[in-house]
Amino acid sequence: MGILDSKVPSGPLADKWTNHKNEINLVNPANKRNIDVIVVGTGLAGGSAAATLAELGYNVKTFCYQDSPRRAHSIAAQGGINAAKNYQGDGDSAYRLFYDTVKGGDYRSREANVYRLAEESSNIIDQCVAQGVPFAREYGGLLDNRSFGGVLVSRTFYAKGQTGQQLLLGCYAAMNRQINRGKIKPFNRHEMMDLVLVDGKARGIIARDLVTGEIERHSAHAVVLASGGYGNVFYLSTNAMGSNVMAAWRAHRRGAFFANPCFTQIHPTCIPVSGDHQSKLTLMSESLRNDGRIWVPARKEDADDIRSGKLKPTQLKEEDRDYYLERRYPAFGNLVPRDVASRAAKERCDAGFGVNKTGEAVYLDFAAAIQRYGKEEALTHGMKDPDESTITKLGKDVVESKYGNLFQMYEKIVDENPYETPMMIYPAVHYTMGGLWVDYNLQTTIEGCYSVGEANFSDHGANRLGASALMQGLADGYFVLPYTIGDYLSNDIRTGKIDTDSPEFDQAEKEVRNRIEKLMSAGGKHSVDYYHKKLGLIMWNKCGMSRNGEELQEAIDEIAALRADFWANVKIPGEGDAMNSELEKAGRVADFLELGELFAKDALTRNESCGGHFREEYQTKEGEALRDDENFKFVSAWEYKGEPKDAVLHKEDLKYENIELKTRSYK
Ligand SMILES: Cc1cc2nc3c(=O)[nH]c(=O)nc-3n(C[C@H](O)[C@H](O)[C@H](O)COP(=O)(O)OP(=O)(O)OC[C@H]3O[C@@H](n4cnc5c(N)ncnc54)[C@H](O)[C@@H]3O)c2cc1C
Repeated sequence: MGILDSKVPSGPLADKWTNHKNEINLVNPANKRNIDVIVVGTGLAGGSAAATLAELGYNVKTFCYQDSPRRAHSIAAQGGINAAKNYQGDGDSAYRLFYDTVKGGDYRSREANVYRLAEESSNIIDQCVAQGVPFAREYGGLLDNRSFGGVLVSRTFYAKGQTGQQLLLGCYAAMNRQINRGKIKPFNRHEMMDLVLVDGKARGIIARDLVTGEIERHSAHAVVLASGGYGNVFYLSTNAMGSNVMAAWRAHRRGAFFANPCFTQIHPTCIPVSGDHQSKLTLMSESLRNDGRIWVPARKEDADDIRSGKLKPTQLKEEDRDYYLERRYPAFGNLVPRDVASRAAKERCDAGFGVNKTGEAVYLDFAAAIQRYGKEEALTHGMKDPDESTITKLGKDVVESKYGNLFQMYEKIVDENPYETPMMIYPAVHYTMGGLWVDYNLQTTIEGCYSVGEANFSDHGANRLGASALMQGLADGYFVLPYTIGDYLSNDIRTGKIDTDSPEFDQAEKEVRNRIEKLMSAGGKHSVDYYHKKLGLIMWNKCGMSRNGEELQEAIDEIAALRADFWANVKIPGEGDAMNSELEKAGRVADFLELGELFAKDALTRNESCGGHFREEYQTKEGEALRDDENFKFVSAWEYKGEPKDAVLHKEDLKYENIELKTRSYK
């Protein structure tokens, strides 16, 4: 066995998971009561894992930095969650979901994990419906579906534009039942600062009470990290302001390998950056691409006139518009995967066709959908000769019922009515496919340390398909981890409580305190945000939507210098042992400054383009990503060795036994 043993079970793809579940060890209910599990993170992945583990009988402690699990970043998820239910009878199946996901990820994900995800997807919907999640329904009362990018079926279940919120309410209710039973002990406003290993096994964490500033020790037989993604390494992203890499990174420093750090998703439909005052970007859900058509003016003169305010988009005739996705990708049209749509928008804007003042925006237009829906509604209401305004009104009502909250959000931010004039959108950092390396059982390279949800690298390869993050997080938490962790914990039925009064806990706590002291005693020249913004600019300009070898090397050098400056000169007001939000941010940015460098190093090492990782040197004549399967068909898993420059690369070779490796095409 190599150092990276993915532990994928043998046997036919479709039987692997069932056989594995039948073969792994179980813990009897009486013994579960003697076993403690720590779950760091109570978003959809951690919340679902915690609720299920507690329901099974384990003693669970949960940690989150917000004041309630209700506020995890998962709540922001808008568009929907995939499941291969085939309710539409449009040819969907577990195999197709598996195939779409592997292809969507540009053949850089592990087949067995993705197949399991597709298999479990149906269970998630049943579970959530049973919890009372109000998924959208059709006229007849059946659950409705819509389409997301990179697929030719409708398999996305949704609750208007608030799917994450509704799923999280269901999950939180499940958690609350366990909190009430005393099976989950929640530690909100607590931040995990370090992972504690005893005899090479994860046996606890050091956490900081963010309200009192106290440092605490917590022990358990296993630790689950469900701490979300690291998109905020770019400073500007669609992620919640607090999203960070600390828990995963601290585990990395203790021996958990970090996989594919450079695989980041840039989402094509976000509200464009409006200036350097911003600290957050806003997503306009991919669901909008079901009905919105993306275009720019076909002629540069028109784009110039639009930018200078001489021309309005609604004045441009159909033949003067370039629906570039429909033109380039007739089969998938506006619903190509995110990496493809983002690059195409950048290409048009770089060529001078952008439509806002900065030249970095394209249109997302609902005029055609409003007319189409309006006519359909008029017919179904028995109207014989409806006039234009009736059709438009009926059409707008349908669009509002589908996307009302997103349209309202857009209008509040941009101060333009998207029912009347096309939305302006541009790609922004959104999701991180990279994360902690995990095996088939979701265990990291540290025994007893598991990772679920966006925090792990698992299923999405080099590009995640829309509506698949919620699916993965909930599959991990409700249906995968609760089985696989039992296999590990079955060895702990006689271990007894893990003592926090041990040299390992002493040492970890000491290191946490030293780190805080070091941050508090730095030179005091620049704010934490000053460094975070600088890092974000390097990341966006040199490691963003497209990358090249020269700039990646520059990024590595610049980030290393910025990190040194940060530790020498960061300014953190207040006290280290009290509530201090600047100190919280500083700890997170310190980790981003290490991760950022590893990110660039990973991107520099991967001499190919695949999915969201687009190296300018490796592209086809048409500007599409050019994979190199011979040399790069692997997961890169980095081992911590001190400075990111010293990190050691391990490779998990990806085997494709059930899917033929092809050039990814959406034409
Ligand atoms: C605007 C937006 C819309 C989206 N829409 C969709 C969609 O429609 N469909 C879809 O499939 N996906 C969508 N996604 C992606 C999806 O929402 C996320 O990938 C997913 O919710 C992540 O869930 P998670 O449980 O892994 O992490 P999170 O929800 O981010 O939860 C992380 C948890 O970890 C805790 N935590 C982090 N660090 C620490 C620490 N050091 N100590 C203690 N606690 C810690 C946090 O407090 C939190 O509880 C969207 C993403 C964004 C940004």
